[in-house]
Amino acid sequence: MRKQASSVTSAMAVSAFLLTSIMAWSEPVPGSLDVHWNEGASDCKATPQEPLQVHKYEAQTFILRQSPCADFEANFIYLLIGSDKALLIDTGAVADPKAMPLAKTISELLPDKDHEKLPLLVAHSHRHLDHRAGDPQFASLPSVQVVPFDLDGVRAFFGFVNWPNGIAHIDLGGRTVDVIPTPGHNPTHVAFYDERTGILFSGDFLLPGRLLIEDAKAYRESALRVVDFLKTRPLSHSLGGHIELDATGHAYRFGSHYHPNEHRLELAKADLTALPAALERFNGFYARYPNYILTNPIHNLVAIAVIAVAVLIFVVWGLRRLLRRRRS
Ligand SMILES: [Zn+2]
Ligand SMILES: [Zn+2]
Repeated sequence: MRKQASSVTSAMAVSAFLLTSIMAWSEPVPGSLDVHWNEGASDCKATPQEPLQVHKYEAQTFILRQSPCADFEANFIYLLIGSDKALLIDTGAVADPKAMPLAKTISELLPDKDHEKLPLLVAHSHRHLDHRAGDPQFASLPSVQVVPFDLDGVRAFFGFVNWPNGIAHIDLGGRTVDVIPTPGHNPTHVAFYDERTGILFSGDFLLPGRLLIEDAKAYRESALRVVDFLKTRPLSHSLGGHIELDATGHAYRFGSHYHPNEHRLELAKADLTALPAALERFNGFYARYPNYILTNPIHNLVAIAVIAVAVLIFVVWGLRRLLRRRRS
């Protein structure tokens, strides 16, 4: 009886040990977001800015921010380092290496392996130019592979056979990054989930700013897909491609090079889980939430055009009435 009890105790101890090691293994590597992002300036010429800000989130994860003075899009770019390979998510809005030394900066951040720089994979959240204008800077570098930005190229590269369903995986060596199709803002959009840090790199799909909706149905399905994917995984932060809101939730004027008192970059799981319902309720034009704005720029343009034409018709009708009255 005693012996039995001791073997049960030791079995329990072993399983407790296994459980804690599994839990420890799946616990995301913590990092720091204690940083003040470059906010640009009201007069960029009078206030010279560093074009690129580099923030070390943790030893193998870097966040780069393009200065709002270099381009109003002020993109965020992410570098994830594994033991065999590194992944760069997006190349930002500026092509000229003199104005934006992106490839040079990334190359300096890459560690050496076997006396050479670690190979680099350059991928994009989506094909909009502000997320890939820096691609040519990487073209001539050794050991750099750039993922195509067109839909067929994206599907073929990651091996999606049933787009937008299924999840692809990038193996960086001791670090896996999952690729989740998220069309809706743009048909080529994907989000990246990093198993090491538990961060979702959400591009323009989810960010503290305007969520520009091109296809509301696809967008909602993408939101549901990501929520479902994260049901069984930890989410430490969702980090997007831009900040377009101030800390009180107001959007900066479109095209502004000055972002005083910016909203924090990181969004939480609650922002993501609220997205499918927000998209379902969307009136097709504009809806404001504390940490993002849903908007369909095409619908808004059409609405403005319709209102402008209506006002014009009313003015012409009024003028003709006035002239007729005067004549009579
Ligand atoms: Zn975009
Ligand atoms: Zn963008």
